[in-house]
Amino acid sequence: MPINSSTAVVNGNPCILDAPPRIVNGRTLAPLRLVGEAFGGRVNWDSQTKTVYIDNAAVEKPAAVKINADQVNLRNGPSTLTATIGRALSGEVFEVLDEQDGWFQVSHGSTTAWVAGWLVVAVTEEGTPDPEPQPQPQERIVVLDAGHGGFDPGACGKTLQEKDINLAITQRVGELLKQQGIKVVYTREVDTYVGLEERSYMANQLNASLFVAIHNNASERSSISGTETYFYAPDSNPELFAQRDERIRLATAIQTELVSQLLRIDRGVKESNLSVLRNTLMPSALVEVAFISNPTEEALLQSQDFINRAALGIANGIAAFMNSDSPEV
Ligand SMILES: [Zn+2]
Repeated sequence: MPINSSTAVVNGNPCILDAPPRIVNGRTLAPLRLVGEAFGGRVNWDSQTKTVYIDNAAVEKPAAVKINADQVNLRNGPSTLTATIGRALSGEVFEVLDEQDGWFQVSHGSTTAWVAGWLVVAVTEEGTPDPEPQPQPQERIVVLDAGHGGFDPGACGKTLQEKDINLAITQRVGELLKQQGIKVVYTREVDTYVGLEERSYMANQLNASLFVAIHNNASERSSISGTETYFYAPDSNPELFAQRDERIRLATAIQTELVSQLLRIDRGVKESNLSVLRNTLMPSALVEVAFISNPTEEALLQSQDFINRAALGIANGIAAFMNSDSPEV
């Protein structure tokens, strides 16, 4: 199912995708819990070892911090697992009371709250924020995005939930790419909810080379089946349009390899304004492996062989794109 759907009723099974409403305005980047869960700290780039690493160790405690993201959760503890007790907007400045595990305790009305250290910049005595060093990877990173998760099941078949199949395929794709020496980062590795904007934000923060979202499809007509892959690069969006050829080539490579592995109906490469395709700054594609609402394909999706072949197709497509895209070759 398309990832920007908010509801899904498949085969009479109500699957309400209870995604909270969010403002998506161009590159607006909303709640950033994902980065916290995935990283637990700041993203840093070590140019000598050519690695991105996460620093959640000691963060110097400035006198004040300024919010450096559009919307930031204020929490009652120094962890994304603690309750949200408020929101802060970009540019708001808070006095810092304490620091722990990369989080800052700040004044919040008559009480206190915690804000993630990677979503703020320090404010110096002169009142100007220190520039935050940006990671500038030279190594190519592929971000793999397993669709849905947590309270958002995605499409529902008679027995399967899309989120579980997406994750199984995605993790296998990651294993295959890692075997080829490709650096892989997942937007989720467990059954947890991740917001749509958080997924593309993560890839953008990492300056990833590619972003591939992995989904399974559904239709109210159970006879519908097959494989399709999406890209998005409209001429109304100059940045995306500049990548149009690349994005089509990525989607086509994945679709071609996937169909050759799965031998299901080839529904082709299509263009659609989906959040993760619109908000990623690098070439991106969203694959719909098969129809969970089709009894034949739901049965196939329950076989490890089919999962493995789906993953092999996607990994081969990514590798083919990267090889043809490599400036060194
Ligand atoms: Zn989906």
